[in-house]
Formats: sequence, structure tokens, C-alpha cells
Amino acid sequence: MSTEAWMAEGICRQVDGDLWFPEKGGSPRAAKAICFRCPVQEPCLRYALDHDDRFGIYGGKTSEERRELKRKAAA
Ligand code: SF4
Repeated sequence: MSTEAWMAEGICRQVDGDLWFPEKGGSPRAAKAICFRCPVQEPCLRYALDHDDRFGIYGGKTSEERRELKRKAAA
């Protein structure tokens, strides 16, 4: 993973990282709630979209939600 400067500001660096990778069928709610308070939510989401990250929660969006955003952007 890149060492872009914003990554050091992510709240998830201070919390249990497993929250951002819930088990299949697990809830993303706790991670998303933290992301929505994170000061780098915007660059984080942009990074995940640009790098096509397929797993985990980034910028408050699940992989399914990111795929949907990309579909809409491409339409
Ligand atoms: S937006 Fe969420 S995943 Fe991204 S750095 Fe912040 S807490 Fe971590």
C-alpha cells in the first residue's frame, strides 16, 4: 500500500482494523460510523475507487457501495 500522507490521519489506525473487514454477513455499521467522523474520509474513498480496492470498507463505503459509485460514474 502507498504511504500517502493522508493515511496517517485515518482514525482506523487507532482502532481494531478487523472492523473494516467484517466477516461475510457481518455488519459494516461500526466501521462506517467511524469513517463518517474521519478527517480523511474523502481522500480515502477516492484512493479506494482509484485503486479498485475490492475488499473492506474505505471512506465509509463497502465494496458493494464503491462498485455502485463506479457504475454511476461510468454511466
Ligand atoms: S475514512 Fe475510514 S477507512 Fe478511511 S482512513 Fe478514515 S477511518 Fe480509515
